[in-house]
Amino acid sequence: MPKVQIKNLHKYFEKNEVLKGIDLEVNEGEVVCVIGPSGSGKSTMLRCINLLEVPTDGEITVDGFKITDKKADLNKIRRNIGMVFQQFNLFPHLTVEQNITMAPVDAKIMTKDEAKKKARELLNRVGLAEKIDAYPQSLSGGQQQRVAIARALAMKPDIMLFDEPTSALDPEMVGEVLSVMKELAAEGMTMIVVTHEMGFAREVSDRVIFIDEGIIMEQGTPEEVFENPQNPRTIDFLNKVL
Ligand code: ADP
Ligand code: MG
Repeated sequence: MPKVQIKNLHKYFEKNEVLKGIDLEVNEGEVVCVIGPSGSGKSTMLRCINLLEVPTDGEITVDGFKITDKKADLNKIRRNIGMVFQQFNLFPHLTVEQNITMAPVDAKIMTKDEAKKKARELLNRVGLAEKIDAYPQSLSGGQQQRVAIARALAMKPDIMLFDEPTSALDPEMVGEVLSVMKELAAEGMTMIVVTHEMGFAREVSDRVIFIDEGIIMEQGTPEEVFENPQNPRTIDFLNKVL
């Protein structure tokens, strides 16, 4: 059974059809990178997977649960799916530790002590143990994004969605965030990553998906898509970004 299954996903904003029938299956432990021009619907597709956007039509199944069912438990679905955004969205008035412990304590899946223990463990993992009592504004962009990843992982998600997690970073900080993501991938996390980092997509992903105008135009292994693209639009896009 695929971890994520998207069938015939359509999304309209008013009369603007942004997703025009997306079909996608992601298996457990798979890392799928999504590439494509700005405005092609990459973020909208990702946001549909945890219902930050409500699909206009189609079906999305996560871990066997049809999340597009009206009766689906939104909180339970979102708990299982971590999301990291381009803008880190940390709570500015909370310390790093509080940012990480808040959601699992609020959702009553951990006691405060358990959440604090988990926060320390995660901060070690992302190389920020010494920042546990810091406030977000005292951290660099790369550090804030690593905290945002730790915060998402605190809920022990099964699936992680990344929407251009390094696009807002100064170039010298991109590497530290990508390396945390690489480790996560190596540990077997199921990941869908919208990215402009073609090097990362090439090195880490099992599959690369090229989206243009709300349609998956091409997909394949990184070798297939980067070395031997078939669709003229993929070729054109890669010529512009590589
Ligand atoms: P990408 O992430 O590939 O750059 P998006 O999914 O953000 O593309 O956007 C695809 C299209 O949908 C764009 O034309 C954008 O303007 C439009 N769009 C995205 N979100 C909204 C929204 N909340 N309301 C109206 N239009 C939107
Ligand atoms: Mg986007």
